[in-house]
Amino acid sequence: MTKFIFVTGGVLSSLGKGTLVASISKILKNAGISVSAMKIDPYLNCDAGTLNPYEHGEVFVTRDGFECDLDLGNYERFLDIFATKEQNLMMGSVYKSVVEKERRGEFLGTTVQLIPHATNEVKSRIRNAAKVTGCDVLVIEIGGTVGDIESDVVLEAARQMRFENGSSPSVLFIHLALVPRITTNEQKTKPMQHSVKALLSKGITPDLLVARSDSMINDGTKKKIALMCNVLADSVFCSHNLDNVYHLPRLLQEQGLLENISKKLELKTKKAGKDPWDPLLEKWENSKEERRIAVVGKYAQTTKDTYMSVFEALRHAAIHAGIKAKFDLINSEDVEKNLVDLNAYDGFLIPGGYGARGTEGKISVIKHARENKIPLLGICYGLQLSVIEIARNLCNLKDANSTEINPQTKYPVIDMLPEQKTIEDKGGTMRLGAYDVALKKGTKAHDLYKNEMKNDQVFKRFRHRYEVNPEYVSQLEKAGIVFSGKDPGREIMKIIEFPNHPFLMGCQYHPEFDSRLEKPEPLYLAFMKATL
Ligand code: GLN
Repeated sequence: MTKFIFVTGGVLSSLGKGTLVASISKILKNAGISVSAMKIDPYLNCDAGTLNPYEHGEVFVTRDGFECDLDLGNYERFLDIFATKEQNLMMGSVYKSVVEKERRGEFLGTTVQLIPHATNEVKSRIRNAAKVTGCDVLVIEIGGTVGDIESDVVLEAARQMRFENGSSPSVLFIHLALVPRITTNEQKTKPMQHSVKALLSKGITPDLLVARSDSMINDGTKKKIALMCNVLADSVFCSHNLDNVYHLPRLLQEQGLLENISKKLELKTKKAGKDPWDPLLEKWENSKEERRIAVVGKYAQTTKDTYMSVFEALRHAAIHAGIKAKFDLINSEDVEKNLVDLNAYDGFLIPGGYGARGTEGKISVIKHARENKIPLLGICYGLQLSVIEIARNLCNLKDANSTEINPQTKYPVIDMLPEQKTIEDKGGTMRLGAYDVALKKGTKAHDLYKNEMKNDQVFKRFRHRYEVNPEYVSQLEKAGIVFSGKDPGREIMKIIEFPNHPFLMGCQYHPEFDSRLEKPEPLYLAFMKATL
């Protein structure tokens, strides 16, 4: 029978609940437990595809085509798994399905209520995620902050699950809350105490508490939290600020988290073997060769979370290439205003994107990289904009563009996929999920993917509506572009390379979703190596 660990958060958001869930899961996995992770978002959205990247960061895409919360990316990277759509539940889809059932008459005669109808739906989705992933322990992150009205239904469902399997311990609650320092050196436990009270008011007693703080909490703080929040001192843990989130599993492990959880849930664990991350983390710290890389996007005003998987993939690649890289997120509109010194960079990455804003800035970065023979990797929109740049400047197609940017363009070198032209709904309707990419023999792409491909094909994740217009392919080839990856069944161009340049490549898919610390994605690795 599957056991469940619920992780809640208190005081404020952005405490690192996602990396905590990923780290707990990794610790269990290293101890031989079959584990998986799930995220429940309390919003009324049905998926993350229509959420604002400024507020919610990157939209991660599962292989089975679900647009989900970026934490799924953390789960994939920490556990080296491919997540499925069942692992991210957005409450909009729960309410939608309850209402649809009501309309179908499935509840005839009953008053349909949040409890039990919505809570039952939540519980059945959790159990289904456990079934689909086939795990023995499912770690579930409850999004939002305890005390928010919108997460009450989720907390209530979790509360009910505690005793549903009889008396054997099958559900554990871990609560993460802020332990700040204000002006003195004293670590303040009151916010944690209040958030635990809020949780208790929902009928949930936490089993373990994790303090998020700037540095390690001291013994006095630990004892105070234990006393005031109803747990033993050995059940209070600390997740303090780290330069590198990949150190978090080790930090928690050293505090005895595995022993505590396995005792409480009666798990049979093995002694953990050598973690493949350890030598890599060491290598990371000791890399010497310095390189500066610019990621040029339009969502650059806030954090780098909008491009989380891109930065993670670059980091993984840099470690394996032995490069001490500095990654800057550059606002493409600043490039348009000439506010950026492009000569300061050893490589450029143009990530995925949508809409017209900032595209001319990205195109001028591509021109700079192409003409000055600086490594360039274009992801999705980055591929499309590279094709536009080459069409304009090497094919003599003045003002060539994508119909996404200028529907009236004279030279629509990028155009909407035919099947997208009749779609009206915006949610979940892009070309989504993983598809085969057929690699052309004798190309750079074919060589890079030699260890990953099967029958000259790789399986990669997509999220787009536009493609290279097949009518311009031969003209683009004459200008020097090699289309080295295509859809095996139809004329969709998926990888470009430009042999007249040391490294100018683009892909229509998102390779960053497949990158792991222990297994960098080949295209990213080749890009980083090219900066040497
Ligand atoms: N906007 C482009 C399209 O829809 C690129 C999408 C992306 O970069 N993910 O095709």
